[in-house]
Amino acid sequence: MKIIDRIQSGLTLSFEVFPPKSDRPLEPLLSTLERLYALSPDFISCTYGAMGSNKGRNLEVVRSIQESGTCEALSHYTCVGNSRADVLSALSDYEAAGVENLLALRGDFPSGVTQTQGFFAHANELIAFIRAQTDRFSLAAACYPEKHLLAESIDADIDALLKKQDAGAAFLMTQLCYSVENYLRFIDRARKGGVRLPIVAGVLPLLKKDGLVRMTLSNGCSIPAEVAALVGRYGESEESFRAAGHAFTVSLVRRLIQEGASGIHLYTLNRFEDVANLVYDAGIREKPHY
Ligand code: FAD
Repeated sequence: MKIIDRIQSGLTLSFEVFPPKSDRPLEPLLSTLERLYALSPDFISCTYGAMGSNKGRNLEVVRSIQESGTCEALSHYTCVGNSRADVLSALSDYEAAGVENLLALRGDFPSGVTQTQGFFAHANELIAFIRAQTDRFSLAAACYPEKHLLAESIDADIDALLKKQDAGAAFLMTQLCYSVENYLRFIDRARKGGVRLPIVAGVLPLLKKDGLVRMTLSNGCSIPAEVAALVGRYGESEESFRAAGHAFTVSLVRRLIQEGASGIHLYTLNRFEDVANLVYDAGIREKPHY
């Protein structure tokens, strides 16, 4: 099933997982996935290591999600490091695995790499190429409420979104964003700029101070004053920070839903408990009574 059809019928709940490194066992992730399925997600996405690291594991993971029959698999796929022939081969692998949904990305450059090797410079070119080959896949694309860290301006980023829309993307998924104000300003500018695609909000649960700082900085996102205050107040105690971060994320998710997000996509970091508590406490799914 195409994820866009689920999005069009109401708020979606989805999760992102990442594949283990190729020399590590898959079983711990498979058992986390089993527990995540119990939360009845609409889809689960699996990241793709740009330049092909973990390529095989990405395919194993999405195949397993798709074969579970519980939800749709969304595979991330990057054009960094992939030629046209590589894309065609990947499309046939995904098709054989039963996957119908891809998140088409340029990809982050691994250290020492500064360009995509010339096959596809940007995600819109990858989307157009896939669209020209087949209708089998529904394609999602990335967007950045606080602007992509290399974009010259929000307007330049919105132009890029229009190119992805014109190329045939079906919906957009956001980078993490802890500031609802920045998120809403972006949505407003994107809509006024002509972006019509549904937008699924990506949320990284606020659980660890170091993780928060690392992820926000590496993605060029901001730490709003409210979050900085949590770091100042609870940063020395892992347990207190986790509890305060959970309360913050619950209220962030509720607000994103109230403001009309098409879906909530939780970056799970392959964890279950914290994610499940967030899903229950934000009221997206009812907690089972055993
Ligand atoms: P693009 O759309 O190509 O944009 C990159 C930059 O170029 C932006 O600054 C944009 O404004 C500009 N631009 C875009 N199109 C054009 C154009 N036609 N002409 C000129 N400028 C243009 N990375 C991974 O490696 N693996 C993953 O699994 C992964 N998953 C992600 C999931 C989500 C939800 C998000 C938001 C990001 C993910 N990323 C992943 C990171 C992503 O690959 C990087 O942010 C990458 O630097 C940009 O990818 P993109 O698809 O947005 O690129």
